[in-house]
Amino acid sequence: MLDIHFTFDDSNTSDIWCGQVLHSLGLVGAFFLCDSVDLSQQVDGLLRLGMVVGNHTEKHLNIASKSEQTVLDAVMPFNERLKKSGASGDYFSYPFSSGRSGVIDRNFKYIYRGCHEPTEFSGEISRVSIFKQGEEKGGKWVAGPKKSDDELMRSTLPLQLHAIPNCEREWFLKMARAYAERTK
Ligand SMILES: [Zn+2]
Repeated sequence: MLDIHFTFDDSNTSDIWCGQVLHSLGLVGAFFLCDSVDLSQQVDGLLRLGMVVGNHTEKHLNIASKSEQTVLDAVMPFNERLKKSGASGDYFSYPFSSGRSGVIDRNFKYIYRGCHEPTEFSGEISRVSIFKQGEEKGGKWVAGPKKSDDELMRSTLPLQLHAIPNCEREWFLKMARAYAERTK
């Protein structure tokens, strides 16, 4: 199993830059994508950097209380497209870190959830969710549960990130370098 410390949900314009940073430090990140106009380019760019590309449903569907058929439709044709672009098709992360479905358990090897959620199936992996406070509060990163940067750098669970805006690039570099140092 790959050693993945950084995960990114939602298909962000910063994904490629984050992948380049991780690649330059010898780290692997998992990027969970939804559909976008440049999907195959995005998948290709991330795979070329040695990153993992996963499924976050075609349209960011909240799976909680959806029928099996609805989940299948939202996930499997999209997974075929990811595979056609070169992705393994083995990785999934739940939109809104919400719900749980046998469809996902049966079709994916590595299933990422948010924090506070006990894992049930063998493939399920908890993450430390990191949210950004409003700009009016200084745009500081906060983790749920609240953790300092030092605690995050020592986390044994992968971090769950989204877009890394320009103003947070230094923060991300600091975290990535700390993990690279740790894995030496
Ligand atoms: Zn999401």
